Amino acid sequence: MSTLARMVSSMPRVLFADQLGPHFDDGGQIIIAEVLGPLRRRRYHRQKAHLILSALRHRVAELGDRVDYRKGESYRELLTGADIEVVNPTSYGLRRLVAELAQHASLTVLPARGFVTSEEDFGSWAKGATSGRLLMDNFYRSRREALGILMAEDSKGAWVPEGGRFNFDHDNRQPPPKGRDTLGVEPPWYPREDEIDREVRAYLDALEAGGEVSFIGSDGPRLFPATRAEAVEAMHHFMEHRLDSFGPTEDAAMLGDWAMSHSLLSPAMNLGLLDPSEVIEAAEAKYHEGVASLPSVEGFIRQILGWRDWVWHLYWHAGEDFVTRNYFGHQNPLPDFFAGLDASAVQSKCLSHVLDEVATRGWTHHINRLMVLGSWALQRGIEPRALNDWFVDAFVDGTPWVMPANVIGMSQYADGGMVATKPYTSGGSYLSTMTNYCSGCPFSPTQRLGEKACPMTGGYWAFLHRSSGLLASNHRMAKTLGGMRRLSHLPEVVAQETQRTIW
Ligand SMILES: Cc1cc2nc3c(=O)[nH]c(=O)nc-3n(C[C@H](O)[C@H](O)[C@H](O)COP(=O)(O)OP(=O)(O)OC[C@H]3O[C@@H](n4cnc5c(N)ncnc54)[C@H](O)[C@@H]3O)c2cc1C
Ligand code: SF4
Repeated sequence: MSTLARMVSSMPRVLFADQLGPHFDDGGQIIIAEVLGPLRRRRYHRQKAHLILSALRHRVAELGDRVDYRKGESYRELLTGADIEVVNPTSYGLRRLVAELAQHASLTVLPARGFVTSEEDFGSWAKGATSGRLLMDNFYRSRREALGILMAEDSKGAWVPEGGRFNFDHDNRQPPPKGRDTLGVEPPWYPREDEIDREVRAYLDALEAGGEVSFIGSDGPRLFPATRAEAVEAMHHFMEHRLDSFGPTEDAAMLGDWAMSHSLLSPAMNLGLLDPSEVIEAAEAKYHEGVASLPSVEGFIRQILGWRDWVWHLYWHAGEDFVTRNYFGHQNPLPDFFAGLDASAVQSKCLSHVLDEVATRGWTHHINRLMVLGSWALQRGIEPRALNDWFVDAFVDGTPWVMPANVIGMSQYADGGMVATKPYTSGGSYLSTMTNYCSGCPFSPTQRLGEKACPMTGGYWAFLHRSSGLLASNHRMAKTLGGMRRLSHLPEVVAQETQRTIW
């Protein structure tokens, strides 16, 4: 960050709700605005509303006399006419607001923070991308080289990736251990609620009781950091106790283990409480100290330096209308049980379990988001934009910038292949290998037809059948589509899935 950007300004700085850590504060006066409008307009998860308000109010308490804390309906109402500076916010909507505020007052916009690489870095990488495709893996490798992360000097003095490879995925991707209900790793760090949490809970209860807002999901003890001190504690706990086991079962899921070996750090990074660069540095240090293995450390760093930064840049690069892409023309609305997180309305163990996890915590791990929720929605032809917005509202770490590449691109292939090379969806056999969900499910993952036919298996073939024309030119789909054509009883499977009412 430039010295210029670090100079204390005479104008107060507005901190938005995802700019709450020290890397957004250069000293001087601060304005924090708490707005009710978004809570009234959308149906957030109760624990998301709690986490954001708790983090905001904890920051207000920490800043003491330095903060001008304003409460109202909207940023427009609270900030119009004020001479202020801002760190460039993270959504199209807020950047439009900043442009509007600048018409009525003196306003300084500093470059965005909270990501490892700058918008300029990404711009120059994208210009030089040789294949014309903006592949995450190429971006990740180029950043490893440019920043010297997990790089070592070889005997000839050249800089090479630690362990001779940029990617250790083939050492990971293991199924869950058999005969066990949990991974058996150290449980994650949990915060202790305080008076501010109790105030937030009472405030949200009153809003809900008064009919002013309505939430999805249940209330529950806060599970994620709301202050910088908590976030740092959570990060060190993960690095010391759980990072080493992150890699091998990164793609697996178990009924009895909601956290597996994931870091649970996305809410803290997305609220701006942790700088992703410090998380990467902490993980790399654990590799050099011999606390965590290279495949786990590399896999974890790739999620942040690769995926997180890349989806952030794609949000801007692909443009605001990326979220409206709909390659397959899917138009079905989200069913009420999905939108309202009613797990009891669902018989499939995989879907009901994951809906229940989201209802209980406002969080579930990546494989559940991609291969259960996203895959189910793709198979059932749910409108991608509606799904995107639901993810933003239902997840404690949901933000406008993180969703388009993940939901529109990766999980729904609604961009026609800009983010993923083929649709991420599978039949029940994949889930039965990588999870223990199928035990205790009334359906059978290998059955395509009949009462016990697995909705994920039938849904998979029905989706491929419906979309085969659009996928025919994708060479990565040739084998799968060939398999589909050889399937016995395909018309019956398609008819069964079209009429399915029990999930
Ligand atoms: C359909 C779908 C919806 C998602 N919704 C969100 C979301 O609302 N907010 C969010 O931050 N991530 C989202 N992700 C990405 C990823 O699933 C979460 O970041 C991760 O599950 C958060 O848990 P964790 O902190 O334990 O992650 P870990 O597994 O411990 O990974 C470490 C960190 O890597 C980053 N990361 C990993 N994968 C991604 C990714 N694909 N995109 C961006 N960052 C990534 C996150 O910051 C995460 O904290 C979504 C992915 C999919 C497929
Ligand atoms: S059998 Fe099918 S529906 Fe049931 S848990 Fe397995 S994949 Fe899900």
